[in-house]
Amino acid sequence: MEQNTGKILLSEEDILQRVKMLGQQISNDYRDKEITIVCVLKGAVVFVADLLRSIDVPTDLDFVQISSYGNGTKSTGVAKVLQGLTTNIQGRHVLVVDDIVDSGLTLRCLRDSLLTKCPASLKLCVLLDKVGHRTQDVKIDYVGFEIPNKFVVGYGLDYAGQYRGLRHIAILGGGNPSHSVDVE
Ligand code: 5GP
Ligand code: MG
Repeated sequence: MEQNTGKILLSEEDILQRVKMLGQQISNDYRDKEITIVCVLKGAVVFVADLLRSIDVPTDLDFVQISSYGNGTKSTGVAKVLQGLTTNIQGRHVLVVDDIVDSGLTLRCLRDSLLTKCPASLKLCVLLDKVGHRTQDVKIDYVGFEIPNKFVVGYGLDYAGQYRGLRHIAILGGGNPSHSVDVE
């Protein structure tokens, strides 16, 4: 079924090609190590499924769910861990995988929380980076694509629970809708 989501920003082919490259880069960087991948629910699920299959070093997979509160276009400075890890990451090489970084609030809070659990290393990976929109000091180690400050959907990213199943990434509608969806 055709869904009316607006302009296609990244095609399925663009995405899969870039994800494969990221997987190769990560595999090279973690050669002879094991990675604990921490997937941020729900938006990163599709990305992590493809990324995981492009990585050729041993990986373990866990999930966290974060609630971030926005007033439409800006975060308020609060992000809460709703569902935490089920594995012990002490001494592990942790790679956090999220769909998109915008203000950086979600990933800064998650990074700070995970660091208290004493991993051997901690790196952050996102598919999309709204690079001009950062308010938080957070270093992203792996970025799939830098994108403009538009609200995007598809390939796991939703608007009000919709569009996650699109194979491409599109700019939603014409404007910049309030993303009042608390849990991504
Ligand atoms: P932050 O501002 O904390 O970096 O981003 C908060 C969360 O808002 C992201 O993890 C993502 O779930 C959501 N978000 C930010 N920009 C977009 C967007 O363009 N589309 C969608 N679907 N979610 C977004
Ligand atoms: Mg998210």
